[in-house]
Amino acid sequence: MSILANVDPAIAGIIGREEQRQRSTIELIASENFTSAAVMQATGSVLTNKYAEGLPGKRYYGGCEFVDEAENLATSRARELFGTEHVNVQPYSGAIANMAGYLSVLKPGDPILGMNLAHGGHLTHGSPVTFSGQVFDAHSYGIDIESERIDYDEVLRLAKEVRPKVIVAGSSAYSRVIDFARFREIADEVGAIVMADIAHIAGIVAAGLHPSPIGQAQITTTTTHKTLRGPRGGMIMADAEHGDAVNKTVFPGLQGGPLMHIIAAKAVGFREALQPSFKEYIQNVLANADALSESLQEHGLRIISGGTDNHLMLVDLRPNDISGRKVQRLLEEAGITANRNSIPNDPRSPFQTSGIRFGSPAVTTRGFGVDEMKTIGRWIAEIVQTPDDEEQIARIREQAEAMSAAFPLPGVTDRDLQT
Ligand SMILES: *Cc1c(COP(=O)(O)O)cnc(C)c1O
Repeated sequence: MSILANVDPAIAGIIGREEQRQRSTIELIASENFTSAAVMQATGSVLTNKYAEGLPGKRYYGGCEFVDEAENLATSRARELFGTEHVNVQPYSGAIANMAGYLSVLKPGDPILGMNLAHGGHLTHGSPVTFSGQVFDAHSYGIDIESERIDYDEVLRLAKEVRPKVIVAGSSAYSRVIDFARFREIADEVGAIVMADIAHIAGIVAAGLHPSPIGQAQITTTTTHKTLRGPRGGMIMADAEHGDAVNKTVFPGLQGGPLMHIIAAKAVGFREALQPSFKEYIQNVLANADALSESLQEHGLRIISGGTDNHLMLVDLRPNDISGRKVQRLLEEAGITANRNSIPNDPRSPFQTSGIRFGSPAVTTRGFGVDEMKTIGRWIAEIVQTPDDEEQIARIREQAEAMSAAFPLPGVTDRDLQT
């Protein structure tokens, strides 16, 4: 880092301050995590210099013998991790993996059916502000307003009405198990393809603690940086029938040269996820999410669907008459990072929202356990219930910093603070 500090002190300073922010705050954003030092080292390697359009053994550039080895390791480890017949590790992000999934089997204007954004779906599942809602004829299913879970009979009814060519099964803010087998039954009934998007739960699926979509969904997309804890990026898996179409859609359909440094880092992340310690990590992620959800409820907050089966939960702030935006800001002042989120039938705008989302993957990587989660749940409830108590926020900030200081920041613990 001293080289960077000499060449570009402004950026070196920013990185140092961001490192200090990560070190001193409690990270509850459900889609974030801390990679290992090994993953980070691969992302910062000479592989960033290399052009390698095409696939291993079939590149359009010379000098690819070593990056070929890296990509082959990434794909073989991904196959072992998920048991998929086909995988492409080149998508730059989860959003691009989804675009590749759609364009492998759809033409512009084709109907798709995905989860409503306000009910937990992702922007790329048909929102009109993204390509998915602009290029395709997008329809959505939501959760049942009583049970606050996916109503599969309703999905079937909508599928019969809409006749989608793709049904998207996956979400960003749904805390319950997703029944991929049921999605496949529904899709088969209307002649659709299932595209599972496991961006959030990939690590839980890899650890065998959430039912896998592999064998059910014809196409499965994911990010590699959320619960899977690899570098920031995407990946797309497919059954043998759709493998070729997926490859051609990723390149040359959508992308240019693959990010070989990131692909090498994906291989490192997959290797880590194949170790028995990763399953232990995911067990702790689930236990911590459950402890946080229980604590929030004990202290009077309402959790959508009454709890969580995975790594995240959504708090319904309507009973507290406070917006998600305000809670997000107050928590940030108290040293706790989270993101506001719409809730089903939200009376507030997507900018204000009536919900806030919490997740356990990042703090669990740091080493936080059930005791810390219970304490954090109490702090959050105190802030939501008496938002104008500034002394309380200052006190919690001090305690949150002390709690963070007790757990080293993964990936950078052996380096001195760079400022
Ligand atoms: C995060 C997420 C994505 C997008 O991933 P990016 O890498 O941010 O593009 C796609 N789908 C779901 C369900 C997600 O949660």
